[in-house]
Amino acid sequence: MSKCPGQNTQYWGFDSIFEVRCPKCGNPIEFFRDEVRRRCKVCGEIVFNDRMDLGCAKWCPAAASCIGAENFKAMELSEKTKSRREDLHLLLDQVPPEEEKTRKLFKTLYSEYYGEDRLFDKNRLYTIKEEDPPLFDSAIRAFQSFLAEKESIAKREEAAAARTRDILSGRLFGKSHLPKNGS
Ligand SMILES: [Zn+2]
Repeated sequence: MSKCPGQNTQYWGFDSIFEVRCPKCGNPIEFFRDEVRRRCKVCGEIVFNDRMDLGCAKWCPAAASCIGAENFKAMELSEKTKSRREDLHLLLDQVPPEEEKTRKLFKTLYSEYYGEDRLFDKNRLYTIKEEDPPLFDSAIRAFQSFLAEKESIAKREEAAAARTRDILSGRLFGKSHLPKNGS
């Protein structure tokens, strides 16, 4: 079997994050190494990950034998990892583009935490409170905005789920709209 030119094993085993500048407006956008594209939240442009190095293994029928079954399996992300990644994207989206130090801090904290149950260890964030107060303030601002955004997303999802339940149970379009017997 010939070696796949797309593989670059030096990055495997690390959930690395790259920054790609939006070609239209210059806004920094974070990509995980195996993400294909993301939408720029500033100008709406679809931005492609030009540093993607594992894409071939996702569709190549020879991938399992090419990169090894073990590695292939490791590429399948757990739901927890996916939601952790989504959270990181959402968090980084709250950081103003000029506050690059804060973005870097969050990416470091994310990479340092090996569990899947949370985004990062909050105690680590508090260690920089005295070291670098402006950085800490910027991080806290972004984190609070992230929590508010999470809450509003959860509310929107709950509202959508409730509407679906209403429709399915016939409360919006069903018999319940007709006057009941005797009323
Ligand atoms: Zn843009």
